Amino acid sequence: MALQAMSASDKGIVEQTQEKLAALKLQLPELEGKAHKKERTQVNKEIYRLENDEAYVAAMKAKQEVSRAERAADEAAAEATAERERLLEEAEAERERLLEETEADAAGISVAQLRERRAAERRAAEKAAAAAAAALEREAVVAIGGMLVRLIGMSGPNSPRFGATSTGTYELSCFACNHEEEWTENHSYVPLTGCSVDRGVTSRNPQACPQCGASNGTLHESAARRRALQ
Ligand SMILES: [Zn+2]
Repeated sequence: MALQAMSASDKGIVEQTQEKLAALKLQLPELEGKAHKKERTQVNKEIYRLENDEAYVAAMKAKQEVSRAERAADEAAAEATAERERLLEEAEAERERLLEETEADAAGISVAQLRERRAAERRAAEKAAAAAAAALEREAVVAIGGMLVRLIGMSGPNSPRFGATSTGTYELSCFACNHEEEWTENHSYVPLTGCSVDRGVTSRNPQACPQCGASNGTLHESAARRRALQ
């Protein structure tokens, strides 16, 4: 639709008249009281005359019509865009439907079965993603601090029969400072980790990192935090 713009002369009339009206209205507050009655009447008359001037009224009407036409054109354009989008969506849905049909045919199943299969795959993927996220969360929590000593290998009968001793290989890992140690110890019974030094087991203190002093108590706290996070 071709828009009819406001003519330059209409524009000029509107601008000039409104400037004059604004200037006149600015005078009014100064013209209060009996002393200025005559001047005030004069100004009001002039305002009335300007506001009702035939050319001004016609120009204002033209201005309103132009903005109405502009709004209508905007609305028509928005409607056309919405209709185009709707058609595109429809075409896309149809394409999806055909693809689904082709795929279901190729697999020898119905479209409903194919959709069910896809939904199951999506659920499995979501579950795997949630498990991966949970594993990451656990790792992050454990890595906050703490250390542990664990038995990683053993040789011998692990029994004091015939005075035999067995050898245990231990590993200390600190999650706080990344300190790591590996060593061996000989005992009649090779102790598992988790026992304190006082009870005469592993030669390294399983309660404190020899490098940074981190305690494995932090791990216990972390487990509590982990439970709190669940
Ligand atoms: Zn450490």
